[in-house]
Amino acid sequence: AKSAGGNRFELADPEADARAITRHGLTTALPAALDRGEFFIEYQPLVHLGDGSVRGAEALVRWLHPQHGVLGPDRFIPLAEHTGLIVPLGRWVLEQSVRQAREWQERHAAAGPLRINVNLSPCQLTHPGLVQDTVDILEREGLDADALCLEVTESALIGADDDLLKPLRRLAEMGVDIALDDFGTGYSNLANLRRLPVSILKLDRSFTQGMQQFPADPVDLKIVEGIVSLAHSLDLAITVEGVETGAQAEQLRILGCDTAQGWYYARPGPPERLHELALVDATG
Ligand code: C2E
Ligand code: CA
Ligand code: CA
Ligand code: CA
Repeated sequence: AKSAGGNRFELADPEADARAITRHGLTTALPAALDRGEFFIEYQPLVHLGDGSVRGAEALVRWLHPQHGVLGPDRFIPLAEHTGLIVPLGRWVLEQSVRQAREWQERHAAAGPLRINVNLSPCQLTHPGLVQDTVDILEREGLDADALCLEVTESALIGADDDLLKPLRRLAEMGVDIALDDFGTGYSNLANLRRLPVSILKLDRSFTQGMQQFPADPVDLKIVEGIVSLAHSLDLAITVEGVETGAQAEQLRILGCDTAQGWYYARPGPPERLHELALVDATG
C-alpha cells in the first residue's frame, strides 16, 4: 500500500497487495484466456421435486488458469463485467451450453426434453446484440427456444425501464424462459413482478438454508410459503437452489416448490455426468 499522502504512515497490507496484483493479473489475462480455450463449463442438474427426475441443468463457467488452477466465476465474472469481456465470454457460454443441450436431447430423447439454464450478466442485457446472438445460436445449433432458460438476477431488474426489458420480452415471446435468479435477496417490489417477462423464480439459497432442520424454522416456512403462493398465483414456477439435504428437499416439495438444484442431487460436473443421471432416470 502506498502512503496516503502528507507525512502519515500506513502499514503495508501484503495480503491486500497480493489480492490487487492477482486481480490486475487476472484482468489482463482474461482476453487471452478466452482465445486459448481456458474456460470450461460445468453443469448442475435441475430436478423435478415431485418425481425426482432430471429436467435439465444450469451451466456454470470456470476458468482453468495455467498458474492458479481452477477459478470459480466469483473470482473472474466481476472482472469480465468490468472490462466488457463478459459479452464475448457470455456468448461463448451460451453457444457451448446450447450445443450441449442439443446433444443431451439427441442421446436422451426418452428422458423427455432436457432444458438448459444459462446465466446472463447485466452487461449482456444492455448489449444490443443479445437477441440476435441468441436467435443465431439456437438456429445454428438446432435447439428449440423452449429448451433454453436465461437467468437474470433480481437485482439486475430492480427499477428496470422498458428499454432494458424489451430484449427480454422479445426472447420470452420466442419461447425462451426468463428466470429471476437469487430471488428474495433484492427487495424488489413484488407487484413489479407482473411487469417482468419472467416465468420462473429461483429462490435464493439463503431460504433453503432455513429448511435444514426438520421441522424447519416456522418463520422461514411462512416466508417460503408466501413466496410460493405468490409465484403460483402469478403463474410462475419456483426453482429452489442450494438443496443440500433430503430434509430440505422434502419440506420444499411439501411447500409446493417445483424444481430443485443442489449438492443433495449433484454438484456441478462435466456434461457426461448429466448423461449418466438422465439415463438412470429414463431406465428407472
Ligand atoms: P448462481 O447463478 O446463484 O449459481 C448457483 C451457485 O451455487 C453456483 O456457484 C453453484 O455451484 C452453487 N451451488 C449449487 N448447489 C449448491 C449447494 O447445494 N450448496 C451450496 N452452498 N452451493 C451450491 P458457482 O458455480 O461458484 O457460481 C457462482 C455465481 O457465478 C453464479 O451464482 C452466477 O451468478 C455466476 N455465474 C456462473 N456462471 C456464469 C456465467 O456463465 N455467466 C455469468 N454472467 N455468471 C455466471
Ligand atoms: Ca443462476
Ligand atoms: Ca442463483
Ligand atoms: Ca447466487
